[in-house]
Amino acid sequence: MIRFKEIKESFLQVVFPHVCDGCGSDLLNIESRLCIRCVASLPETNFEQHVGNPVEKTFWGRMPITDAAAHFYFTKESLMQHLMHQFKYKGNEDLGLQLGRIMGYAIKSSNRFTNIDALVPLPLFPFKEKKRGYNQATVLCNGISEVLCLPVLNNVIIRPQHTETQTKKGRIERWRNIEGKFQLLNPTVIQNKHLLLVDDVVTTGATLEACGNELLSVENVKLSLATLCVASR
Ligand SMILES: [Zn+2]
Repeated sequence: MIRFKEIKESFLQVVFPHVCDGCGSDLLNIESRLCIRCVASLPETNFEQHVGNPVEKTFWGRMPITDAAAHFYFTKESLMQHLMHQFKYKGNEDLGLQLGRIMGYAIKSSNRFTNIDALVPLPLFPFKEKKRGYNQATVLCNGISEVLCLPVLNNVIIRPQHTETQTKKGRIERWRNIEGKFQLLNPTVIQNKHLLLVDDVVTTGATLEACGNELLSVENVKLSLATLCVASR
């Protein structure tokens, strides 16, 4: 017997056709941007399960973290690169939400990342967010939040664009100077909380470290990290 849901989905597929962002197949349910085959083909790290995984090692001696993981490997010329491009430069927010939900399920099924109180997206420079229309880390947080039912704190930390004193410095030096600068707006909101700082990709970890240390400067904050991908340096 054909169920009502299937009839409804077939109808919607005819009226509003939508295909997998990975392979172009139309075999996907109406809320998805990626089909099951494409999701299954993405290279998972399983870092959520492992203490001392390569992402955690990246931060050893640099910043005290509770748990850290990246969910997928990022390699050039791969499906993951194609998806990241869609998500970051083509305005495909729904794809980011689905990837965020995948991160959420991985965290939920690990027996680590326990007692997290809130999600914090790594802030983007305001001009970049304006250009993109959203902060990709916030979109991932929203997907994770759907699974873990945790609040997303968007206004506790920002990334200031530039300061007066930097105008005399060279461009590269000026960029370096602002790249690692974050500013807490509402420290009391995060006092005594275990935060999960979220970003799309971790490479050297420098940006996450700068932001994470700012969050850790607040009284009794515990910090864990989750990124969608890990890229080799
Ligand atoms: Zn597909």
